[in-house]
Amino acid sequence: RKFIFVTGGVMSGLGKGITAASTGRLLSNAGFDVTAVKIDPYLNVDAGTMNPYQHGEVYVLKDGGEVDLDLGNYERFLGVDMTSDHNVTTGKTYQHVIEKERAGDYLGKTVQIIPHITDDIKRRIREAAEGTDVCIVEVGGTVGDIEGMPYLEALRQFAHEEDDGDILFTHVTLVPYSKNGEQKTKPTQHSVKELRSIGLQPDILVGRCDNELEPKTKEKIALFCDVPTEAVFSNADVDDVYHVPLMVEEEGLDQYVMERLELDSEALPPEER
Ligand code: ADP
Repeated sequence: RKFIFVTGGVMSGLGKGITAASTGRLLSNAGFDVTAVKIDPYLNVDAGTMNPYQHGEVYVLKDGGEVDLDLGNYERFLGVDMTSDHNVTTGKTYQHVIEKERAGDYLGKTVQIIPHITDDIKRRIREAAEGTDVCIVEVGGTVGDIEGMPYLEALRQFAHEEDDGDILFTHVTLVPYSKNGEQKTKPTQHSVKELRSIGLQPDILVGRCDNELEPKTKEKIALFCDVPTEAVFSNADVDDVYHVPLMVEEEGLDQYVMERLELDSEALPPEER
């Protein structure tokens, strides 16, 4: 099974969820069974009691789970039904670990973020991915947030435990324009530096920008963030978010992901292709 971990840098609301859902859509178009997990690093157990002005309307799943709007994007982009298990929150994780502690499951042990919380996060991701070819895992918030740290550590361990070639890290950042109309890569460089300081090296970088990234912007990002130039993609502003999969397909995101993850759609039975 393959996993694509999607993190975000610089600021939230950049289009991390849309980028993740678009990647999933292209892989599902190629014939693979794709699912997604959204990680919300807040302490609420679910989104049911949260102010819609802050987080958008709560999205209700078939099993009654009240979750973040992003799950709606995943259901629509991937054409799959998801369950509450596809939304991992800090509230759910801690509640479960603390319940186990009270029940005596960790008798004698000191219960800690590492390994007990990180183990529970990894378990949730593996269980949600069961029976699929590819699982896209989006970490809400921005790299560097205190709340997100246990998740990034869990993903680091996860990648260490799985085979090379089964995991890809995609990092979505902002590429703003300077006053003189130049695309600036410094925010991207800083957020990749932040990722690296916690032991994660992105494989793919996606720059959200008003327009597509210029070749020289991509080259600069590649050089400073240590990825091949063909691993840098644009998520330019579009009028309709359903155009994002087409836009990233044009830049070859699906081909690059399939190559890196050794996903061969030719090897699938013809009726699934
Ligand atoms: P994040 O996951 O980074 O918080 P989202 O994927 O939820 O961001 O996107 C934030 C907002 O930006 C959403 O309203 C989404 O529809 C919009 N958006 C995302 N990508 C694009 C794009 N390429 N063009 C226009 N709007 C976009």
